[in-house]
Amino acid sequence: MAAKKWGLAGTPLAPPAPPAVKPHLTTRKGFEVEGGDASLPPVFTTVPTDKKIVFLTMDDGDDKDPELLKMMSELNIPYSAFLSDYLVRDDYAYFKEAQVRGVVLGNHTLNHRYLPGLSHDEQTREICDQQDIIEQQYGERPRLFRPPYGNYNGDTLRIAKSCGITAVPLWAAEAFPDRMEWREEDQDLHPGDIILTHFRGKKDWKGSMPDMIRNVMKVITDKGYAVARLEDYV
Ligand SMILES: [Zn+2]
Repeated sequence: MAAKKWGLAGTPLAPPAPPAVKPHLTTRKGFEVEGGDASLPPVFTTVPTDKKIVFLTMDDGDDKDPELLKMMSELNIPYSAFLSDYLVRDDYAYFKEAQVRGVVLGNHTLNHRYLPGLSHDEQTREICDQQDIIEQQYGERPRLFRPPYGNYNGDTLRIAKSCGITAVPLWAAEAFPDRMEWREEDQDLHPGDIILTHFRGKKDWKGSMPDMIRNVMKVITDKGYAVARLEDYV
C-alpha cells in the first residue's frame, strides 16, 4: 500500500531481526591513519555481515523536505542522518521531527570544512562543538561521525574519540535521483554496504528527495537487498 502510494517500483524487502551482538568493526585496509591503532574509532565503508542488507545514510541537512520524513515513516525504511550545523541551524525542528520518527542524528561537523587542512584546535571546534550542539538540541550525544568529503587524518580520529565518537562510517555507494555512484570496481551492492545520500533537492539535483528514494530503493530491492538500521549493527 505505502509502496504504491509513494510510487515505488516494488515493495521494500523487510530486514532480518537485528543481531544479538554487534559485529566487530575494524578500519578498512588502506583507510588507516599514521600512528593509528586499534583504540581509534574504526573507519569503514561496509559493515561485516552475511545478510543481504544495506544501510542508508543522509548527510549535511540543506534540503528539509517534509515529504521525505513522511515517506520514510510510511515505508518504514530506516536511515541515519549526519548533520552539519551551518545547514541545520536555521531549522533544528526539522531534524527533531526526524529524530522523533526514529532517525539517529550523527555528527558531520559544524561547517563542513576539509578537516586535514585544519589545525588541531580548529578540528576540535568543528567536531567536538558539533557534538555539544547536537546533544543540546536533541538530547543525545552522537556516537557516529562522518568527516566531510570522507577526508580525515590522525588528529580527526583522536579528537573525535576524545569527545565521544566510537565509529566513523564512510560509504560504499552514493545515491542520486537519477543514478548511483559506486566506490567498488564491480559497481554493485554487497552485504553490509553503507549508502550515502544527501538532504538535497531540485536546487542541486535532477529531482526531489522522494525521487532519490524511489531511485535508490529500486536499485536495492531489485538486487534483493533490504535496508537495515545502521545503529543496530554499529
Ligand atoms: Zn557532507
